[in-house]
Amino acid sequence: MSKEVVAIDGPAGAGKSTVAKAVAKRLGFSYLDTGAMYRCIALLALRNSLGPGDGETAANFAINASIEFMPGDPQRVLLDGEDVTELIRTMEIGELASALSAHSNVRKELVKRQKRLCDAGKVVLEGRDTTTVVCPDARLKVYLTASVEARAKRRWLELQAKGDSTPLEEIERQIAQRDERDMTRSDSPLMVADDAVKIDTDAMTVDEVIEAVLAEWNKSLLVS
Ligand code: C5P
Repeated sequence: MSKEVVAIDGPAGAGKSTVAKAVAKRLGFSYLDTGAMYRCIALLALRNSLGPGDGETAANFAINASIEFMPGDPQRVLLDGEDVTELIRTMEIGELASALSAHSNVRKELVKRQKRLCDAGKVVLEGRDTTTVVCPDARLKVYLTASVEARAKRRWLELQAKGDSTPLEEIERQIAQRDERDMTRSDSPLMVADDAVKIDTDAMTVDEVIEAVLAEWNKSLLVS
């Protein structure tokens, strides 16, 4: 039986978080940002001077760290009781999270937690493997995508608004590199699940994407 869950996967910068948050709000579901969990492990790794190859120690952090999501707008992320919501949003943490997420032992621990959070249903979750590994029995599975150029431009605008002046070309390079790593790793590579609805957001506004996902949800209620 399918779970009362919306799972959204897609590459970096496709708009998954914005869309997942809005869809969760409209459906009255909770929102699970699985990438934030990988980012928390990356922050712990950075603070302990670990590198991208230190999967073993990072997996221990994944076993022992307390990661909590507190409702709010934005939802707050607490790592061992510390509010790290903004700290985990840097490009540096994103890069390290991506590298550490390629280690199977890190994934195993975080996926275990994520599956537990999905069991109760009424969740919208997003990441790279939520439709294929974390919750393949979600009632609705969505793959959100957009060209590298469109995604880089969005990230660039977000960073500019925060006073970060990383050049557009650098963001494009990093996004392309992150895609390559997320799609080619041996454990749970980013891919389109067979029964996922694929939405290309290049020519769509955020509101149009949200409405498209909600329409797919309503459709999914009719078929089961
Ligand atoms: O989505 P976000 O950019 O916050 O995720 C950071 C990194 O964590 C991603 O680039 C990806 O490598 C990894 N990740 C993952 N599986 C997920 C969520 C994130 O491998 N479910």
